[in-house]
Amino acid sequence: MKPLVAIVGRPNVGKSTFFNRMIGERVAIVEDMPGTTRDRIYGDTDWNGREFTLIDTGGLELGSDIPVGQVGLDGQPGDIMKRVRAQAELAIEEADVIIFMVDLIVDALPPEQENPEGEEEEDVTRIAIVGRPNVGKSSLLNAILGFQRSIVSEVPGTTRDAIDIEFEYKDKKLVLIDTAGIRRRGRVGPGVEKYSVLRASRAIDRCDVALLVIDAGEGLAAQDTHIAGEIHEKAKGVVVIVNKWDLAQAQRREEREGIYADPDDEIESAERYRKIIAEGLKFIPYAPSVFTSAKTGYHVQSLLDAVLNISEMRYLRVPTSRLNEVVQEAVRRHNPTVFKGRVMKIYYATQTRVNPPTFVFFVNDPQALHFTYERYLENQLRHAFSFRGTGIRLQFRARPRSEK
Ligand code: GDP
Repeated sequence: MKPLVAIVGRPNVGKSTFFNRMIGERVAIVEDMPGTTRDRIYGDTDWNGREFTLIDTGGLELGSDIPVGQVGLDGQPGDIMKRVRAQAELAIEEADVIIFMVDLIVDALPPEQENPEGEEEEDVTRIAIVGRPNVGKSSLLNAILGFQRSIVSEVPGTTRDAIDIEFEYKDKKLVLIDTAGIRRRGRVGPGVEKYSVLRASRAIDRCDVALLVIDAGEGLAAQDTHIAGEIHEKAKGVVVIVNKWDLAQAQRREEREGIYADPDDEIESAERYRKIIAEGLKFIPYAPSVFTSAKTGYHVQSLLDAVLNISEMRYLRVPTSRLNEVVQEAVRRHNPTVFKGRVMKIYYATQTRVNPPTFVFFVNDPQALHFTYERYLENQLRHAFSFRGTGIRLQFRARPRSEK
């Protein structure tokens, strides 16, 4: 059991803001736990490497709160302290630590950063292995490490029980994130399921490249689409791993009553699979697929090569002049059309960061940007600079004409 930390305090002191800031993007999976009061929100988080569950008791402020110093409809002063005490009492029953919140705390927090990893080129590539249970994540991890046994070292991950493993491949430093989480198996149940989703989410946050593993025998499921969406949103690198390829091929040979492996046959089934992936994971058309067998080690090396390529793409810096040539050419071929009664005009573009590659477009009016045009520009950049296997970011900012 992780320690429970409850936030209590008067209404409007910023409890929920603090909670949301701590939970951040993970808030999507925060929900009521069965068997507890519906008025509290729970979320898992960590601080300086310690994992804990945070409880927002904000939900206990039921009904209309009467501000301090005012009287309610019944003519009585708002009994806020009584409610705060009730909250605290409830929290004390189950919490290990209680944060008594007063006005101030949120302002004192360091500002939010889009990517705390920083902008400087790092000499490691962090890999997250994600996917549904039983697709072969743990086996793949072992296959990767078995392949590299001599130069593996364990380093502590960010959370208490997480272990990252560092190894080298082709003179490049790679880190497998949260290998303890990948290896944890055998436990089922709603809580555990949610926990593993949370873990995967965190691993994606911390990675440069995510390996989305699917089972060749089972194909895509809703959860794969969900994970792929998250990888895309966070503009991470991604490889779709179709694992257990040995089984799929054996089955196919059996169906066709063939005894010998036919290479053409394999290419044909890989192509069919690529189509399934392209259809099912439409929003990451840039993701390469690698067909692996964690059991035989088939294509494990190709997979690591793909990771290195993607990592390199993520650190690509496009010269501003070349970027603007590409943008001008794109606009010349296909002008923005009227949207919300306006036409967007692009003045210039510049790459502001790497990992992920981020491009800022200075325009007359960002509101006039239609998402299809954004997608068009993204595709043009991908095409011109071969951003294969990684999310990129496009940002649009207003710039008055006079500043041009
Ligand atoms: P995880 O839950 O995603 O970590 O999956 P595991 O790595 O534990 O694998 C689940 C099962 O699939 C185990 O019985 C593995 O031996 C088997 N498995 C994993 N990868 C392969 C593979 O490439 N080929 C075959 N034939 N079996 C595999």
